[in-house]
Amino acid sequence: MKFTRLTCIFLLAASAAFAQTAADSTKPTAPAMSKSFDLAAIDTTADPCTDFYQYACGNWNKNNPIPGDQVRWGRSFSLLGERNRYLLWEELEAAAKSPKSELQKQFGDYFAACMNTDLVEKKGLAPLEPALKRIDALKDAKALGTLMGELEAEGSSAPLFNFGVEQDDKDSTKQIASVGQSGLSLPDRDYYLEDSKRFVEIRKQYVEHVTKMLTLAGDTPEKAAQEAAAVMEIETALAKESTSRTDLRQPENRYHIYAVADFEKLTPDFDYAVYFKDIKVGHFDTLNVATPNFFKALNELIAKEPVEAWKSYFRWHTVHAAAGNLPKAFFDENFAFYEKTLAGQKEPTPRWKQCTIMTDRALGEAVGQDWVKQYFPPAAKASMDKLVAALEKSLGDDIKTLPWMTDATKKAAEEKLALVRNKIGYPEKWRSYAALKVEREDLIGNLRRNAVFAREWNLGHLGKPVDEKEWDMTPPTVNADYNPSMNDINFPAGILQPPFFDFTIDPAVNFGGIGVVIGHEITHGFDDEGSKYDGKGNLREWQTAEDRKAFTERTDCEVAEYGGFEAAAAKGDVPAQKLNGKLTLGENTADNGGLRIAYMALLDTLAAQGKTIDDKIDGYSEGQRYFLGFAQVWCQNQTEQVARQMALVDPHSPGRWRVNGTVQNFDEFGKAFHCTKGQPMYPVSSCRVW
Ligand SMILES: [Zn+2]
Repeated sequence: MKFTRLTCIFLLAASAAFAQTAADSTKPTAPAMSKSFDLAAIDTTADPCTDFYQYACGNWNKNNPIPGDQVRWGRSFSLLGERNRYLLWEELEAAAKSPKSELQKQFGDYFAACMNTDLVEKKGLAPLEPALKRIDALKDAKALGTLMGELEAEGSSAPLFNFGVEQDDKDSTKQIASVGQSGLSLPDRDYYLEDSKRFVEIRKQYVEHVTKMLTLAGDTPEKAAQEAAAVMEIETALAKESTSRTDLRQPENRYHIYAVADFEKLTPDFDYAVYFKDIKVGHFDTLNVATPNFFKALNELIAKEPVEAWKSYFRWHTVHAAAGNLPKAFFDENFAFYEKTLAGQKEPTPRWKQCTIMTDRALGEAVGQDWVKQYFPPAAKASMDKLVAALEKSLGDDIKTLPWMTDATKKAAEEKLALVRNKIGYPEKWRSYAALKVEREDLIGNLRRNAVFAREWNLGHLGKPVDEKEWDMTPPTVNADYNPSMNDINFPAGILQPPFFDFTIDPAVNFGGIGVVIGHEITHGFDDEGSKYDGKGNLREWQTAEDRKAFTERTDCEVAEYGGFEAAAAKGDVPAQKLNGKLTLGENTADNGGLRIAYMALLDTLAAQGKTIDDKIDGYSEGQRYFLGFAQVWCQNQTEQVARQMALVDPHSPGRWRVNGTVQNFDEFGKAFHCTKGQPMYPVSSCRVW
């Protein structure tokens, strides 16, 4: 379990819904690939020195409206994601029809169970009955520990908090128990707490949605309305006591080691002993309590809310968690609120896509084995090794020349950089799924058994040595991440494809694509969060006080800069939504560092080839192609609802500001496009951390 520690390059927009009709006739088609460098995407009527994002992406954005089953549509991440999904679907479909190995039979059956919507319809709510009965039998709010333990033991949803095993922030060689806040059904605590007209309206619609879902589950409309009110009251109380995403980004705010007995005193009315026993976690004397205040408040809530309210809350969460895999009536209502109202999605995602995603999530290192054989040749790994080495060298060079850092801290930074580990493509050793039982005619049973399997896998790490070779992303994933406890950067095979990674194109474009992605991940080790961990992955200050102060002045510059950018413009009486400069600080720092060090690595590469940054291809200089290649990764359309939602929950800035924010902080951009000092993309003063 990770709270907010992993930092990746991209966050998928709100989860898309399952298309849930037997007559779902959408047949998969092979999606078109984006070009690594696309002249047709460019809006030549725009001035690159005024709005580079509009220049690099304007035509693409105009000509590529968001498809009905998407809420965010990007030239690189979305199209490559669609392609990888399609290729994986081909493999799953073949395995479902005629498996050639035990493993293929296992993931083929998992996929087939998901596709069988006729059976879903026939079973109705029956697969949830055991969980609903347990909830109904609750006699006393003080028995919530037993209820949650039993629900989790059978793989049903148990919402109140997250419990799992993770590396100790202060001793990364140890794997310890950790617990933290959870329990909400809206995307963020602000949805419960903000007083604006927009959120008041969303809350009203949410209560109506809960009422409808529980009516579908068989309750009278009057009872369902009472239940919805209780759900809203409990979730609002939990939201009030939840730590904000921004505060959780700071490692010290989520690190509080407690003796088990002291932790239990925070919530004396919740029987943790029975809960821990039910979920079969091994013995531990201490644990990390990420959000102690939440657990204190939970006790007041248990004492205050009547048992009927708790039953409503758990009943709602059980139906809600399964909604995408229940009959069409449930599915449609879930889609109408979560996807349509909250995210602006026009139509459900085709079933084949969602079953592909579901199977990849559950059995990723099983399906990934065949996938990488076909789509990730060994030569690609060797090329990536070289690129990563080039980027690490650039950051090393950059550290040496930093004007604000003392020599002692430079040395410590270089030591940390030397210890960064790289994981590229896919795991050396695949995870075993032998213990996961899959039945072709039991979708919800499979999901439940998988929940148990995944939990036992996680809890099995307690007290064991850390395995540096484990992966947290599946091979076809289009993403990359940095893990500060491991001090490693991870690039699944899924992102090591065109348009990110393309050796048929000139190095400038390739460095603007995958080069910046690599630079971004390495820089995460040195952003406001990552820089608090040392090279061994331990939370320990390695900067001098003087350097930390200078560092924070520089990050404050980015907080103010990005905090001024608009994620969504004002509309009618709904005010504009600005970005949260503190929430996005780590990602913005990584973007800025990544753009700078990939550029330096490109200069080295060109020099070695006897070329210069001013040489031209197709009318653009190498430097211009580099910045265009970078910007075109981020060409992106999104619904207004998602733009507003992501501004609250996503630590990444939207595409426009990932491009314009970084180029205006990097003078080489202004020089490459012959801008005049003082133009928006070539300002007189700008922010720089690394
Ligand atoms: Zn990132």
